[in-house]
Amino acid sequence: MDTSAVHRYLDQHERDSLDTLFTLLRQPSISAQDTGVKECAELLAGLMRARGIETEVVPTPTQPVVFGRLDCGDPKAFTLICYGHYDVQPPEPLELWKSPPFAPTVRDGVIYGRGTGDNKGQLIAHVLAAQAWLQAAGRVPINLRFVFEGEEESGSRSLGWFIERHAERLRADLVYVSDGGLHASGRPVISLGNRGIQGITLVARGADRDNHSGNKGGVAPNPVWMLVHVLASMVDPDGHVRVAGFYDGVRPVGDVEKAMMAELDYDPVALGATMGLPRVDMDAETYYRRIMLEPYFNISGIASGYVGQGSKTIIPGTAECRIDIRLVADQDCEDVLAKVRRHVAGVDPRVEVLARGFGTMQPHRTSPTHPALPAVKRAIEAVRGVAPLVMPCTGGSLPNAVWPRLLGVSVLDVPYANADENNHAPNENITVERFLNGPHVSAQVFAELAAMAAG
Ligand SMILES: [Zn+2]
Repeated sequence: MDTSAVHRYLDQHERDSLDTLFTLLRQPSISAQDTGVKECAELLAGLMRARGIETEVVPTPTQPVVFGRLDCGDPKAFTLICYGHYDVQPPEPLELWKSPPFAPTVRDGVIYGRGTGDNKGQLIAHVLAAQAWLQAAGRVPINLRFVFEGEEESGSRSLGWFIERHAERLRADLVYVSDGGLHASGRPVISLGNRGIQGITLVARGADRDNHSGNKGGVAPNPVWMLVHVLASMVDPDGHVRVAGFYDGVRPVGDVEKAMMAELDYDPVALGATMGLPRVDMDAETYYRRIMLEPYFNISGIASGYVGQGSKTIIPGTAECRIDIRLVADQDCEDVLAKVRRHVAGVDPRVEVLARGFGTMQPHRTSPTHPALPAVKRAIEAVRGVAPLVMPCTGGSLPNAVWPRLLGVSVLDVPYANADENNHAPNENITVERFLNGPHVSAQVFAELAAMAAG
């Protein structure tokens, strides 16, 4: 399929692409603070309609989904859902921004602003690619659906609700997501999955107040000890989780995954530096297996008693602990939560287990033999001139599992931002080069999927 006219159109309209992005970036859309999200939905829908995409702002119990559709003229053609999110993280702390978060600014070839990388600068690539196809070829080569949600940064509360109610309109062959950054080496990446997350808060209560540890020591219950015993019973010193059935759903690591991990470069000193350690003390396979394909039971905070200046000899009244369990396919959040509840009740029923702290996202992994994978690889290589790294999974959590779980459709994540995009932090950015490259990749992906479907 000759795509040169489409790429030429994108090259000739770089100014328009940048203007479109800047319009979107100037509209705050902070889901955590409910600031400007609905306005941003309307703005995005308007930008899509102006580019020939039939677009609706669909209300949900929380933030609206911007849903667009563009048909190629053949209902039996390959149908791709492009998923992204138009909401952003809160911009605070404002004093650390070199230019205001919602006044996009270019410095040395880099666009700074909240949402540049995460995710406005990436989702709009799919829209610009569709526009280029319409303008240069008169139609898009596959059927396109656009699902842009307004609360990914707040746990995608209504994405599942939306998908369940609109399943008919969301019939598709593949979900395509561009979020996150390229590999630190600059190599493009295809990620086949994400770890999930289950947040848990443990609360241990003793007396209804702090007590004198001399006068009441040995009589009043100490909730910190309760918590310590419960925590120690759940995880071995080597990190192995002792909650019964915890590993039941974990998908075994196959030869394909091992081969993929062997492709990823590994520098124990450089990786150590990214986390403030002199070096990482393990071999490459262990490192990637632990981050990508094994669950992790994390304690992210413990609070109780007094550790301020001087001393205060108390038996604290309460102790609290936040846990985030990173899950892998095919573990299930609810199942793991139930097993943790059962375990804690067996060790110390006075410790309360609350499903609270970080929300919930299911883990997910697309098969490395998915038929669309070679087509997407070819598209990236054609545009970037270098083959992408295929990661069996990435360590962080995204809401992507809703697609296979609710619609039975697989997901491929192809990040378009630079690795140092500073997402969620001050001075979030995307380089002009990376931003302008995104629509070329999307446009080529549409072509390769069409060619694949045509056999
Ligand atoms: Zn984000």
